[in-house]
Amino acid sequence: MNHKLVISYPHMGDYSIIFTQLFRHVLPEAQLLPPPLITQHTIELGSRHSPDFVCSPFKYNLGNYIEALEHGANVLFQTGMGCRYGYYGELQEQILRDLGHDFQFICLSRERAKPTAICDSLRLLGCTQSPPKLLYALFLACESCRILDRFDRFMRENVGFEVLVGSFESVRGELLRQLAVADSLQDLRAARNTCQQASAALKLNKPEHPLRVGIVGELYTLMEPFSNFFVEKQLAKDGISVSRLMGIWFLLFGQHRTRDLRDCGGYLHYLVGANGVHSISHSLNYAKQEYDGIIHMKSFGCIPELNATPALQALSRDYNIPILDLSFDTQTSETGVQTRLEAFADMIRLKKEYNDAAVS
Ligand code: SF4
Repeated sequence: MNHKLVISYPHMGDYSIIFTQLFRHVLPEAQLLPPPLITQHTIELGSRHSPDFVCSPFKYNLGNYIEALEHGANVLFQTGMGCRYGYYGELQEQILRDLGHDFQFICLSRERAKPTAICDSLRLLGCTQSPPKLLYALFLACESCRILDRFDRFMRENVGFEVLVGSFESVRGELLRQLAVADSLQDLRAARNTCQQASAALKLNKPEHPLRVGIVGELYTLMEPFSNFFVEKQLAKDGISVSRLMGIWFLLFGQHRTRDLRDCGGYLHYLVGANGVHSISHSLNYAKQEYDGIIHMKSFGCIPELNATPALQALSRDYNIPILDLSFDTQTSETGVQTRLEAFADMIRLKKEYNDAAVS
């Protein structure tokens, strides 16, 4: 290849920082260009050029691609499996070509997600790293995901009780900065230790029994906060401790078909596509731990999560645990979501007060 590669990939939360770290090691000669941060303009661009019926991750990704190409990207990456997402790459590539863009599209879906096929794609881009170096780069990226996901879980549970507003965000910002420039396992350990020490020093004003809400649902809607109107932040502002098990680390290493079905406790007997099974197994786990409520979030028209919904309704009845079902599309009203969220928070707060009074 005689022109400089300018590589881009869609956003999903802050994981693009880890993709940047990975590509910096795999293709050191290339320029890395994460798309601009998602804004309303991104969604408008993506929606304008997407089929109406398609689920919102497609539209968000397409908006990211268009903005990245407009900023000079000439290589785009896509991947995904488990549902129709595995077929989105081809359609997105065709739409972008019909719009007149000139680029290379590396789609690592389905059979192209196998290690040998991934290596072939990287070699085509001019990657000359040896297999041990590629494996090390991958290991660093996975370890970075583990560190970030672990901190995010701790943050979700506690950020609603920070004494100094913004203190968790500043620890997280420093962690992301260190992960982005990490080149070795020692760098990652240093980043993790700095983050742990800073977290331990944060002052919290957390009650002994705070309101607790578990979040389950479709992976993109859960992991890209812009697509769900920052639901987790809103709950934290309301003084609610939030749990969400879904993250990249969970997707890479936390799934196990037989165990996942068993963990559904009879509410599901077959896999229903993508992460529907986890919506149920995680919800059952929250119900058994006597969480105050569950929020089930999905893209409008997401078949795997629609399949999971009847089982969630049965679980809600059996365990007397409220489940708020939120569907998001690019047309969803932010005010409508906020209103439902506030009503849900009021309802679980009243329920908890009533139950606590009945016990005492
Ligand atoms: S899991 Fe649902 S929303 Fe996500 S890509 Fe698949 S069908 Fe679309």
